[in-house]
Amino acid sequence: MTLSGKTAVVTGSNSGIGLGVARELARAGANVVLNSFTDRPEDHQLAADLATEFGVGVRYIQADLSNGDQARALIETAGRCDILVNNAGIQHVAPIDEFPVDKWNAIIDINLSSAFHTTAAALPMMRAAGWGRVVNIASAHGLTASPYKSAYVAAKHGIVGLTKVTALETAREPITCNAICPGYVATPLVEAQIPDTMKKYNMSREEVVEKVLLERQPSKQFATVEQLGGTTVFLCSSAADQITGTTISVDGGWTAL
Ligand code: NAD
Repeated sequence: MTLSGKTAVVTGSNSGIGLGVARELARAGANVVLNSFTDRPEDHQLAADLATEFGVGVRYIQADLSNGDQARALIETAGRCDILVNNAGIQHVAPIDEFPVDKWNAIIDINLSSAFHTTAAALPMMRAAGWGRVVNIASAHGLTASPYKSAYVAAKHGIVGLTKVTALETAREPITCNAICPGYVATPLVEAQIPDTMKKYNMSREEVVEKVLLERQPSKQFATVEQLGGTTVFLCSSAADQITGTTISVDGGWTAL
């Protein structure tokens, strides 16, 4: 299938799942806009490398998505947005009564509110182009909960709700909106949780991976960024024209338990 002629904006895409999704969209022929809050030479180099590898147009646009105006400006600067992948996200783990307020606010702003702002800015472009796809990278934590992840679970449940509303508001148009709910994927975000969890439970790295991180993932395997990219490309295909307002779990059976 080909997405040539389409432009995809993927938020939080200089690493992890966002980069994996951007790569699969580029492989399918889409022009891609990469984004993060940094503005380093390596961010722009990443865009140049992707353009060379897949023969598509790739730009890197810096925007700090904790700020709603910058989230909207990202879409305006892109100038065109046929495919919007709301992926940027952060994590913090603490009991509710000790949860730092600034971390709560940052997680809600980056993981949830940014998707509201980018979607609001992108829908008029999709309507003008007569086609559009919004893919929200939620989480198994958009459907279930874990202790110590209050802000993350609240934001991810929120983005599943936003997905449904976006789908209903566009249901009569050639625009769809869905959420992908990954279980654990081996990325820097997951890596960053390992040292704290090792300390908390006095466990080795291997024990943390198998007994804590993958405890609820029956396959006992991490999902890959390529699989999430492939799921996104599927949602952009005509086979998915009538798939809207729903969640697709890529979680090795987590939510079947
Ligand atoms: P990651 O840390 O590798 O990537 C996060 C991306 O978001 C990075 O590109 C980062 O630069 C960007 N980002 C962070 N703060 C930002 C800000 N203020 N403005 C703009 N960009 C910002 O993490 P990841 O694991 O690839 O996570 C990507 C998404 O997938 C997140 O929404 C996360 O919640 C979700 N997710 C991850 C897993 C997992 O196991 N890794 C599981 C389920 C859902």
